[in-house]
Amino acid sequence: MIRVRTRSPEETKNLAAAMAELAQPGDLLLLVGDLGAGKTTFTQGFAAALGISEPVTSPTFTLAREYHGRLLLHHLDVFRLDQIAEVLDLGLPELLDSDGVILIEWGDAIRQALPNDYLEVALTFIEGQPSPPDERIVVLTPVGPRWQARADDFAAATGQWREGPPC
Ligand code: ADP
Ligand code: MG
Repeated sequence: MIRVRTRSPEETKNLAAAMAELAQPGDLLLLVGDLGAGKTTFTQGFAAALGISEPVTSPTFTLAREYHGRLLLHHLDVFRLDQIAEVLDLGLPELLDSDGVILIEWGDAIRQALPNDYLEVALTFIEGQPSPPDERIVVLTPVGPRWQARADDFAAATGQWREGPPC
């Protein structure tokens, strides 16, 4: 588990870009955090680093969007309960079998339906900040062999934002 602090949306995008540099075909990332925590912002930085120039918007009403970059990026949002059912019915198994990278906002809501092999990116606000609150704590938890194999790379790539040693 790696705990970092970002101080602006740009820093969250830069952190996401560092993760994207380490991304491989078939990777799954679960983006966790309240509304406005920065899940879509993270995805935007991730996409930019894959060479995607299209604007990345929240897929809240479209369920899933696909972007073509160095890797194919699938961006999903399962915020609404009916979307969970749709994601499970339509396409999730195919997406998981594809060579693309999958980022799922509110991914913790469908954790049971996902392989036990993903990077969890949990974004949280910091209490008591002056408004607007521009700082976020981001906890990166590699779950399963794919991501644990890259743990040292993560530690190196996130050094500038890290709070304390990896644990
Ligand atoms: P979510 O997808 O989690 O609902 P968004 O990424 O859509 O959240 O929105 C996050 C909002 O918070 C954006 O308006 C963004 O500019 C702002 N923001 C401020 N500071 C940060 C930060 N450190 N990291 C990410 N977003 C931030
Ligand atoms: Mg969002």
